Amino acid sequence: MTIKKYLVVLGVPSIKKYVFGTDRLKEIRGASAIIEDFIRNRIAEYFRELPQLQIETVFVGGGSGHYIVHAEDKTVKEVFIELEGEFLKKTCGGARLNWGKAEYTKGNYHLALKLAELDATRKLEENPLHAYSQIHNGFIRECDSCGGLIEIKNGKYQYDNRILCDICLEKTKYSSQTRKTFFNNLSEYLNGKGINVKQPDTFEDIGEQADIRKGYVALVYADGNAMGRLIKDIDTQEHFRFFSHTVDNSIKIACHEALNEVFCLDKGQHSKVIPAEILMLGGDDLLVYLTAEKAFAFAIKVAEKFNALTRKEMETKDEGDFFLSKLESKGLTLSLGIAFDKSHTPFSILLDQAEELLAYAKKAGSEDPKSSKFYSPEYIDFHI
Ligand SMILES: [Zn+2]
Repeated sequence: MTIKKYLVVLGVPSIKKYVFGTDRLKEIRGASAIIEDFIRNRIAEYFRELPQLQIETVFVGGGSGHYIVHAEDKTVKEVFIELEGEFLKKTCGGARLNWGKAEYTKGNYHLALKLAELDATRKLEENPLHAYSQIHNGFIRECDSCGGLIEIKNGKYQYDNRILCDICLEKTKYSSQTRKTFFNNLSEYLNGKGINVKQPDTFEDIGEQADIRKGYVALVYADGNAMGRLIKDIDTQEHFRFFSHTVDNSIKIACHEALNEVFCLDKGQHSKVIPAEILMLGGDDLLVYLTAEKAFAFAIKVAEKFNALTRKEMETKDEGDFFLSKLESKGLTLSLGIAFDKSHTPFSILLDQAEELLAYAKKAGSEDPKSSKFYSPEYIDFHI
């Protein structure tokens, strides 16, 4: 057996189906937290438990990770199959960690990435995931949240007067865990500015705080422009690391700053429930649920800040030159979709709308005369 360098990519296929397969805020929050905690914290912990393993994390975020592993083929398989199993347990079979690997030599990052992704796709096709709860015997009924079939064991699955399957119960339990979640990160950022906020319990709690029209909310969905095309041109690990960190970090800072400016600065909102919830944040994706009247201000601020932050990072770091030349010195941009509705509208409807609007915004941006191969101006599409 020979030791080689491998690029391993991992991700959670059908992540949205798992996280947003319910209309309850707590379960969505819990599902997000399960994935974030596993990908950002647990995997790093697991690697620390294997000090003999030479592994380098290139990037983690948005439910995915890239690693350079210096090991035998067999060892790489063992390590990631073990993680796969642990993740399946953590989500009670509700979601799966999928991964792929390819040999990596310096300077061929793009090629190795393509091959590793192909390997991951092959694995998934050979072994598609069917989310399930195991059924042995006993009374069978539907889960009050996802509608999946469950076995009743002496009311073990009761939560909030609802009967839940293993998958949904675990999500609910996780929603109140204290390790890093999107809210904890926001709260830390705001604490640093002397602002204390509490987390809403339900989507209705957010709608309740709308000043202009009670109960009206919005879902803002933002996504980076032309990211895939830029990634395809990256040839070194250093450039990939710089790029993914810049995107991941800038979208987080832009989101936190925009929420602070929209909800906290002018109101001095101390120890109050913040009428916003970050549902997804990482990679180049952002999904925020908030009161309707603040949605536009928030979206515009996020877009402006993201562009300014990425441009600044590229102007100040050596690795940035490579990207600035492709982006005509303009920095990265976002497209945004905003769906407006009442807070009791099923979340899945709002999400579908926001996703569709985001796609329209992307298309409009790419058709803008100022667009080039790697750059598109920011567009926002919305629907009331
Ligand atoms: Zn369920």
